[in-house]
Amino acid sequence: MPAPVTAYVALGSNLDDRRAHLEAAFAALDALPDTRVEARSAIYETAPLGPAGQQDYLNAVARLSTALTPHALLDALLAIERARGRVRAERWGPRTLDLDLLVHGDAVVRDDRLTLPHPGLPDRAFVLAPLHDVAPGLVLDGRTVADRLGSLDRSGVRRLAR
Ligand code: ADP
Ligand code: MG
Repeated sequence: MPAPVTAYVALGSNLDDRRAHLEAAFAALDALPDTRVEARSAIYETAPLGPAGQQDYLNAVARLSTALTPHALLDALLAIERARGRVRAERWGPRTLDLDLLVHGDAVVRDDRLTLPHPGLPDRAFVLAPLHDVAPGLVLDGRTVADRLGSLDRSGVRRLAR
């Protein structure tokens, strides 16, 4: 088995019981083989991208220790989404649960199924705000999460009380 690495997963939900979907996702991540959740961010409420008329998102980030390969972890994330009733309909439409693999150790991947680090990461406040809770010093493309977050517009991203 490969040595464990640190990986970061973004969680998002804007359909049905959003908190229940996130809680179920944290539990499912911790239950994956050779994987545990080492830290979780606060939960943030954020305005949606994409088609109008959607509910706001709840977003969070989990820091994992995992011995799963990037593709095995991606498969596991997609299976957790399906288990929460995720239906792939319109692009950027509402979803019960979205799990994105942000970073997996120092893996750089670009194939049909997986892009790592996740391409939306460096400039999205709804990902960087929760990521900052668990990895402020993580360097993305030459700049830390803290530095990147500091130069973004954070209106539309609201930290919820625990
Ligand atoms: P998005 O998260 O961009 O709104 P989806 O959740 O519908 O879109 O994901 C579509 C596909 O993106 C997945 O089936 C997966 O193969 C691919 N993908 C590529 N890179 C990643 C990544 N780093 N994390 C999660 N999915 C990814
Ligand atoms: Mg996704």
